[in-house]
Amino acid sequence: MGCGGGGKSPIPPTPSNDGSGQPSATLTANPTRVRGGDVVTLSLSANPTPISVSWEQVPPQPRGTFTGDRLQAIWTAPSVSSTTEFSLIANIVFPATTLSRSVTVTVEPPGNGGGGNPPPSPPAVSISYPTPDGRTNVVAEGVKLTLLGNVRAGSYPVSKLQVLDADGFLVQEWTVSDGGFRVDLERFGTLGAKAIRIRVLDSQGNYGEIPLEVINNPGLLDQLAKDFLRRYCAAGEPPRLVRFGDLSDGPYARPVQVWLHRGVEPYISLVQEACTFWTRYSGIEFRILRADERPTGDVYIVIEDKFDVDATYAAETIRGSSSSPFKIDFGSITLYRGWWSASDDERKILILAHELGHIVMTRDDNNIGSGHTDDGSVMDGISPRLVLHPYHQTAMRILYSHQPGDSL
Ligand SMILES: [Zn+2]
Repeated sequence: MGCGGGGKSPIPPTPSNDGSGQPSATLTANPTRVRGGDVVTLSLSANPTPISVSWEQVPPQPRGTFTGDRLQAIWTAPSVSSTTEFSLIANIVFPATTLSRSVTVTVEPPGNGGGGNPPPSPPAVSISYPTPDGRTNVVAEGVKLTLLGNVRAGSYPVSKLQVLDADGFLVQEWTVSDGGFRVDLERFGTLGAKAIRIRVLDSQGNYGEIPLEVINNPGLLDQLAKDFLRRYCAAGEPPRLVRFGDLSDGPYARPVQVWLHRGVEPYISLVQEACTFWTRYSGIEFRILRADERPTGDVYIVIEDKFDVDATYAAETIRGSSSSPFKIDFGSITLYRGWWSASDDERKILILAHELGHIVMTRDDNNIGSGHTDDGSVMDGISPRLVLHPYHQTAMRILYSHQPGDSL
């Protein structure tokens, strides 16, 4: 039902810094000495799981950019005219308290090339997602592999991002500008395990590139999807599928109705974004209803505001079944103060998408944490990010092409 960790632990026999229930956090930066345009990886470990983390730099100008996750952020250093020390600060909000942690990073001005006309420096690209691991990088036709990363200009402005197959054929390209990018790769070229190339080009055709290991294997993707369904979207032995709605009233026959309480109406665009996330990856359509409208039929999701309640979790989701234990026909999402006070809209959207996922994807059978994955996706219980892996997308397609209660 609930979200996040932080169960009650027994009082330790002796005072201890660990497990005493006192929130703790450590922050590291790598590297700590860079030039403008370089990226610094900021790793935060915090216990218990924070409600939110916001990042800032001191001094605020010249301004670098933060991207990535709340627990693993990327800071792209700004250009400086003289060596400058920046404090990079994480403001960490726990249910009961707030902590700040900071690290110092030194940014140096552009190097002295040593006279003459230096050759143009090419643009550069880095990738923060996916991390090749034999799971998140397994693909096949019909799914999207989201690429999250960063491009930075060399001597000329950045113009295009391309993906080339292992044999050098262009499979997809996008227009990009300096900074963070998020694109969906939908073509994967030849079958098998291979290194595709992520290339960034500038306006003059200079380029920089990095390899990315992917496995284009429909059979393996199908197997990963079924493993996922058995673990997160099924009940009983042998496992039988648990899903929202059925083939006649479920999300592919008609849009899922999402009914907002009045207090949630001001945030309708954030709810829309969270729904669009699921539509993009799973094809499920949603219809958002304001408080004075009424859902038709019995199958719908309601979102309620309790912004004055300072609960353990930022949000909580309950799902209900009226006819069969395998058919979910009702979902209720409650948003607490922790959601309302979340650091930014991105965080609010992530929480909404996560809660919707407890209704349309991963079961949460009154056992806190049971609907949480450990795979860095939107359903990750510790470090969620706004992506669905290819095997989730395949799992959703299998799940919603079967009736509730079908064996896998
Ligand atoms: Zn959750």
